[in-house]
Amino acid sequence: MKPICVTCGTQFEDSAVPPDRCPICQDERQFVGLDGQQWTTLEDLRSRHEIDIVLQEKALTSFSIEPHFGIGQRAFLLQTPEGNILWDCLSMFDAAAADHIRRRGGVQYICISHPHYYAAMVEWSREFGNAPIYLHRDDAEWVMRKSPQIEFWSGETKRLLGGVKLVRCGGHFPGGTVLYWPAGAEGKGALFTGDIIQVAPDRKHVAFMWSYPNWVPLGPSASKRVAAAVSPHNFDRIYGAFPKLTIATGGKQVIADSLRRHLHAMSE
Ligand SMILES: [Zn+2]
Ligand SMILES: [Zn+2]
Repeated sequence: MKPICVTCGTQFEDSAVPPDRCPICQDERQFVGLDGQQWTTLEDLRSRHEIDIVLQEKALTSFSIEPHFGIGQRAFLLQTPEGNILWDCLSMFDAAAADHIRRRGGVQYICISHPHYYAAMVEWSREFGNAPIYLHRDDAEWVMRKSPQIEFWSGETKRLLGGVKLVRCGGHFPGGTVLYWPAGAEGKGALFTGDIIQVAPDRKHVAFMWSYPNWVPLGPSASKRVAAAVSPHNFDRIYGAFPKLTIATGGKQVIADSLRRHLHAMSE
């Protein structure tokens, strides 16, 4: 079996017996569930869950697992004239989601913001022609299922196709990455932030945290570095990690205002 951690949704290497522990959940940024370490499998997930598919805007679809599983993040398919990118990942896909993606031209690259969303990335890659998976090298230690399809990138930015760019922000994880899509938001630009810049439930602010579930904020200098990394880019919309948490417009100002609020709170 290839065990999947029930709390964080990460798939591990094939083994006769699941590991004793999940290093991602043992880490201070995550937690072990109230019932202790639990495992499931892709087959079991598919028997209990389906993928909710939402058309977000032209050439952009989001996917999430229903009912809720693991951390509960969204993954996105961005379509560009040069090819498609899967941004962030889930612990499963179903036949309907795979068909939806294939009808739109499949997946050329898989890119993931940080280790909490590595999920079942190798399964997704296999389903879509062994698409390369781009992960930041600074988070390489958190890969729980290795694959020749994983390509580690280094440095601060990486250009993909269709003008899309990966931007390393650090913060929540050293290799914490956001994705910039200049054609998004009807050409005004969109940013996909995962947990690296977290869209708040009010959809008017973002949060800069080192651990979200354990409520540990990111310090002032790291928060400023995250905001500075995205500031050269023109964007209006911010797609956060979780379903419906999207800042539809004014995203650039939201980040500036939220950083000011965050620094003020920390200086009290
Ligand atoms: Zn885990
Ligand atoms: Zn995270």
